[in-house]
Amino acid sequence: MGQYKRLKVPANGAKIGWKDGKLSVPDNPIIPFFAGDGTGPDIWNATRLVLEGAVEKAYEGKKKLVWMEVYAGLTALKNYDKDTVLPQETLDAFKEFRVGIKGPLTTPAGQFKFVCLVCAAELNDRPAKCPKCSSEWITPRFRSVNVGLRQKLDLYACVRPVRWFTGVPCPVKAPEKFNIVIFRENTEDIYAGIEFQQGTPECREVYEFLTKKMGKKIPFPDSGIGIKPISKTGTQRLVRMAIKYAIAHKRPSVTIVHKGNIQKFTEGAFRDWGYEVAKAEFRDQIVTEAELWDDLGGKMPAGKILIKDRIADQTFQQLLLRPDEYSVLATPNLNGDYLSDAAVAQVGGLGIGPGANIGDGVAVFEATHGTAPKYTNKDQVNPGSLILSGVMMLEHMGWQEAADLVVKGLEATIQAKTVTYDFERQMPGAKKIKCSEFGAEIVKNMGAGKPVAA
Ligand code: NAP
Repeated sequence: MGQYKRLKVPANGAKIGWKDGKLSVPDNPIIPFFAGDGTGPDIWNATRLVLEGAVEKAYEGKKKLVWMEVYAGLTALKNYDKDTVLPQETLDAFKEFRVGIKGPLTTPAGQFKFVCLVCAAELNDRPAKCPKCSSEWITPRFRSVNVGLRQKLDLYACVRPVRWFTGVPCPVKAPEKFNIVIFRENTEDIYAGIEFQQGTPECREVYEFLTKKMGKKIPFPDSGIGIKPISKTGTQRLVRMAIKYAIAHKRPSVTIVHKGNIQKFTEGAFRDWGYEVAKAEFRDQIVTEAELWDDLGGKMPAGKILIKDRIADQTFQQLLLRPDEYSVLATPNLNGDYLSDAAVAQVGGLGIGPGANIGDGVAVFEATHGTAPKYTNKDQVNPGSLILSGVMMLEHMGWQEAADLVVKGLEATIQAKTVTYDFERQMPGAKKIKCSEFGAEIVKNMGAGKPVAA
């Protein structure tokens, strides 16, 4: 095992292995985790209770999750130094142990210079104590740690299953029609972070290069400039993962979502490369939408997966109007970011939407919402997103029995109308309970509730 300065590798656990494209999971896998900033510790404590309860109940002590705490965000400042939010050791541990889980982290936005990692106050100087919450944990503005984690570990797919759980309050009439898994490309597009600030010499140079050398028109010279790289390699590994998932889970279709009508050489190429990998590597398992209508008279052969594509803006309305026509989506980074949150809003909001960042042999599971700083230390928010990310983690490890128990417990708890504030305010007759109580209720209700939906 690797040598770590500030991290303790638990002696009672073993490493998850990776061979021939598959994980080999011991009965006592070491799982690196960090709880995150803001409300992260509240939702993590509830999640840990639920996951441990499910594993204990499913395997009666024969299997056990062995947690290894790693640091990021506020805990990194506390354990390393006041300018380190993503220590190399954290990356090394996620890489070495292959399956990890994380809470949300504060991500500064805008052009101020410092941020308080306790209350997320944005500051232009660095006082000894935060003027808003009096904490001493102020650090220089930094790029998103979440994006850094994804890029440095090459977790190239952000996977978001979006389905409705019976009883969850939501804004649409037929939420049960929604059962879609979104594969969002995670490493490129405008998230590559190649931006030039208006007014800087670098930005001027890029502007001159584009307008004078490349003959491009930029409407105003006082523009900030961003670059959007989308590669064949990045696209094809993402679409490949989405198709493999559809095959493994007997899903009927994969839809390539893009804005290729406007951005031909990035989004349009994403579509073309997506079809290319589908035909080159999955020829016997797939039918394209063109083939369906041109060659097969609109009759889909049994057992095959339909590969289709949709323009991004149209996809938003399709998911609202005809969600049952979609099953797996493969999207570039920015469109996938918007679509994932819009999709989960339809089935009850971010509090209940799980997510995972997956690469080849390494995966980090995460709550999809942010740190919700106004609820910090109030034991109030809904831990459902991180708990369901834990379900994805158990499934990824092949511990399906434990994953099913969590879902049963969660469904039973929601159906009993014992829920956190966010659901309670929309559910007539519901009883509002704390974040920690919600976790405890789920453990109590495991084995109860209705059968798990497919
Ligand atoms: P946010 O933390 O997601 O919270 C926005 C609102 O969403 C909350 O005020 C709350 O709404 C609701 N919400 C979020 N999590 C909830 C939960 N678990 N249970 C119930 N309701 C929940 O978004 P933000 O305020 O825009 O961002 C705060 C910080 O988090 C920022 O620094 C942002 O950059 C960061 N962030 C991190 C991640 C990540 O780590 N993956 C993702 C997104 C944002 P109500 O007040 O209406 O109840």
